[in-house]
Amino acid sequence: MDSAKRMTDFLMRASTAVVDAILPPLCLSCRRPVARDGGLCPACWKELRFIDRPFCDVLGTPFAYDIGSGAVSAEAIANPPAFYRARAACVHRGPARDLVHRLKYSDRADLARWMAGWMVRAGSDLLADADVLIPVPLYRTRLWSRRFNQAALLAHAVGRRQSLRVETGWLERVRATRSQVGLNADQRERNVRGAFRIRKSVQPDLRARKIVLVDDVLTTGSTVDACARSLRRAGADRVDVLVFARVVPGQDIAI
Ligand SMILES: [Zn+2]
Repeated sequence: MDSAKRMTDFLMRASTAVVDAILPPLCLSCRRPVARDGGLCPACWKELRFIDRPFCDVLGTPFAYDIGSGAVSAEAIANPPAFYRARAACVHRGPARDLVHRLKYSDRADLARWMAGWMVRAGSDLLADADVLIPVPLYRTRLWSRRFNQAALLAHAVGRRQSLRVETGWLERVRATRSQVGLNADQRERNVRGAFRIRKSVQPDLRARKIVLVDDVLTTGSTVDACARSLRRAGADRVDVLVFARVVPGQDIAI
């Protein structure tokens, strides 16, 4: 590289840095200017629904009334999942939905850092005694076309905050599953049955571990349930689920 080109490159980089320093931070969701980096504007904050207690101790679905700590929903009793507990930072609607979409499709990997902060808060009980974080894997052709797995971005961001080990190679998606969009609960369950496998070489390492599965969105829970079943069959002690957003019937349309 000649010196003129080097100087041009340097000036370009310097001017970008200056512009970054001058421009105000933007709302993570709608890109309106906000007071500080990593926040939402007042309009988006108002729309965001964090999931706080009371909620079902197993599924993490919000309850309308507080019926005491450790309460479990009728749904969790009727269909006990393979995972132990699921927690979500917020309801999958409004700005939460925008963030999920932009993390997945718009090359905004930086969003994972902020989304992970909210997930750490929602999943503090699960993370406190976890051994390993495992992102829900994509099938390899989908990973190639999208270039990254949004669940892995979130798992790494949570792992960095909590100093927790992240294993992206332990759980594999062994067949392409059709998109879960538009499928009902039964169809979703059938769609992911047998889709996940534990890599043989990691089974001794996995035995007796407490795992937290990480994903961006939880809809009916059939995907994480299939993952949890595979992990437990391979000897994991316990599998919890932590997602950024979950669909709450009546509060969102299906994805
Ligand atoms: Zn906004």
